[in-house]
Amino acid sequence: MRAIAARIRERKSQFAKLEVMDCGKPYDEATWDMDDVAGCFEYYADLAEGLDAKQKAPISLPMESFKSYVLKEPIGVVGLISPWNYPLLMATWKVAPALAAGCAAILKPSELASLTCLELADVCREVGLPAGVLNILTGLGPEAGAPLASHPHVDKIAFTGSNATGQKIMASAAPLVKPVSLELGGKSPIVVFQDVDLDKAVEWTMFGCFWTNGQICSATSRLLVQESIATEFLDRLVKWTKNIKTSDPFEEGCRLGPVISRGQYEKILKFISTAKSEGATILCGGDRPKHLNKGYFIEPTIIADIDRTMEIWREEVFGPVLCIKTFSTEEEALEMANDSQYALAAAVISNDLERCERMTQAFQAGIVWVNCSQPCFTQNPWGGNKHSGFGRELGEWGLENYLSVKQVTQYI
Ligand code: NAD
Repeated sequence: MRAIAARIRERKSQFAKLEVMDCGKPYDEATWDMDDVAGCFEYYADLAEGLDAKQKAPISLPMESFKSYVLKEPIGVVGLISPWNYPLLMATWKVAPALAAGCAAILKPSELASLTCLELADVCREVGLPAGVLNILTGLGPEAGAPLASHPHVDKIAFTGSNATGQKIMASAAPLVKPVSLELGGKSPIVVFQDVDLDKAVEWTMFGCFWTNGQICSATSRLLVQESIATEFLDRLVKWTKNIKTSDPFEEGCRLGPVISRGQYEKILKFISTAKSEGATILCGGDRPKHLNKGYFIEPTIIADIDRTMEIWREEVFGPVLCIKTFSTEEEALEMANDSQYALAAAVISNDLERCERMTQAFQAGIVWVNCSQPCFTQNPWGGNKHSGFGRELGEWGLENYLSVKQVTQYI
């Protein structure tokens, strides 16, 4: 696994270029993603070594005539189904812990962005991973993903993708009582209180929603801003957002490339036009940038005058679209933040750390960010609740996904 990481670092710019061509993200972002990919393999290499030391740890029992311990064993052959937004990184969040646990894996990358996963297979071959340990199965969801999910010889499915596909995977695993872990969508809130440094709060708000073109499951795409600072805050937010550089993702300084596909482009524009027709106000963006007449580019968009029943407020857009509502009290902010079918992430921005602590405890989310949005560390658990799925990736929790626990009790 360390050799895989080393090769990926050596070939970082080639991997990053492929990723840009496949999914349109800015080149420097893709380069940072490759560092995270290599770091993830190294992290799970360390955990794999630690795992050996933990085997057979004795369990203390109330009777001296028995002794017990636990063996952690690889769960078997695992099916890993991944999305297109971080093509190699999302795949690595599954492949690295699965290999560390000793599982053989079949990875089904997204049909929209499979190239870097195929390159990963080459790297594995180069470093001597035995044939058959990691297999890459390309193809469409119904043709390649569905048979994998329902195959009786696949012992577990780890899935990252949309809620609709997650439901299908769970249904097809049910008759086989096959374990699944699901990392699904989100519609995460960011709550900004009046006591903040406005510029810092604007920066985190923009980053939280527009990074990777908003094509992040944890994007904080619902902004709740306290009424007393709303006008000033929104003025700065709109001004800065208009300056985000949208361009060819290979161009220096690019922050927003094209969205992934025609389907996604049309879907995002439809979300925006429906919101407009329902009475929402577009504060900026809302269309294709005027300077780019080719490619699936969409301006970073901020939408106000939203009713909470609107689709744009309730459904995951998965594009560069930020929706705004104001609040007056902490209770009101919390109630609006938690009023979602999803529960992946939530962010609070405030200088009052006691308030942050209260919000942290009350947020319905698997991930809470305090005075920031989106930082992600391999060491921390990642995943959500409610319709955002269940199970956790990354950290030691990610390894447990691929281990089964065997209890051994001996009479002495
Ligand atoms: P998607 O559900 O369309 O596809 C995901 C994967 O599932 C692809 O590989 C696809 O080919 C496969 N698939 C499609 N139909 C299938 C079926 N019937 N059976 C088995 N596999 C099938 O999702 P997407 O559009 O690739 O990704 C975007 C979604 O992923 C968003 O909803 C986003 O929030 C979510 N996501 C979640 C996380 C997280 O950590 N929670 C991370 C990234 C993306």
